[in-house]
Amino acid sequence: RSINKGPNTYSYHIDHINEHTQRQYDIEYELRHALEKSELSLVFQPKVDSTTHGFIGAEALIRWTNEKLGFVSPTEFIPIAEKSGLIIPIGSWIIDQGCKQARNLLDRGYDNFTVALNVSPRQVIQDIILEKLEAALHKYDLDGRYIEVEVTEGLFLEGSTTVDVQLEAIKIINASLALDDFGTGYSSISYLRDYPFDTLKIDQSFIRTLDIHDPDATGLVRAIVKMGHALNMKIVAEGVETKEHADFLKEEGCQILQGYYFAKPMAEPDLLNWLKAHD
Ligand code: C2E
Ligand code: MG
Ligand code: MG
Ligand code: MG
Repeated sequence: RSINKGPNTYSYHIDHINEHTQRQYDIEYELRHALEKSELSLVFQPKVDSTTHGFIGAEALIRWTNEKLGFVSPTEFIPIAEKSGLIIPIGSWIIDQGCKQARNLLDRGYDNFTVALNVSPRQVIQDIILEKLEAALHKYDLDGRYIEVEVTEGLFLEGSTTVDVQLEAIKIINASLALDDFGTGYSSISYLRDYPFDTLKIDQSFIRTLDIHDPDATGLVRAIVKMGHALNMKIVAEGVETKEHADFLKEEGCQILQGYYFAKPMAEPDLLNWLKAHD
């Protein structure tokens, strides 16, 4: 907006800022009661082996529907939960519910899977995660190997000096560790060397719009896969929406695929039905 648009420009901006602040305020206010009102739920998106397309695990993704605000995306409310500290109780609930789902799958005879939990920087840094994970593993009589913890590089930008200890602790309880959304933001390759990641998740922005005839785009994906393998990591591609992409990624040696081509995130009963149909 140019300056010569007159005196209304300024108030336009103020209104716009106020609206934004109001929305954030509303979200924080409503989020405060979301747990007790049972407005939160987890959905699960299958991950499959790129060669067999067999089920190898599911990522737990949070959903929130509020009576006033309607459906609110996690991309909108998770950052607010982080800032306000609400991520601590909500994160504990996610860990509990994710472990509960892992127990449920085991009880139904599935054994080769992980349930992946997204964990925010603050959860890791405040040392909450390990305590909560151990409690949930115990509660559901679960081995840590059924759980994968997904963190983003945002964790390293917080400047915490204990991140390495926290991440090692996750490994000590036998859970695995994934670096999510790799390739976006300020990703630095040194994180892959300095921290004990088992899995690298290539961000969906590299996959969804991938033109498999564009040598630059395919070269980039190929290089990420190679680098991950050189560092003994499994590679997950997220945002796989087409057969063409699934085939390409398999050819490139990417072992694990996740995306709408295989399945959308599903509530527990739908996941169980999908698994039955998929066997
Ligand atoms: P993420 O962890 O990278 O999750 C992947 C996102 O991609 C999910 O969006 C998923 O629904 C979406 N997705 C999966 N496959 C496809 C596809 O083929 N095409 C397209 N267009 N999208 C696909 P969602 O559920 O909206 O979550 C967004 C982000 O919010 C997550 O990104 C994660 O950063 C955060 N988030 C979600 N659940 C949680 C949670 O329980 N805890 C924390 N801390 N963050 C969460
Ligand atoms: Mg994730
Ligand atoms: Mg991701
Ligand atoms: Mg993401």
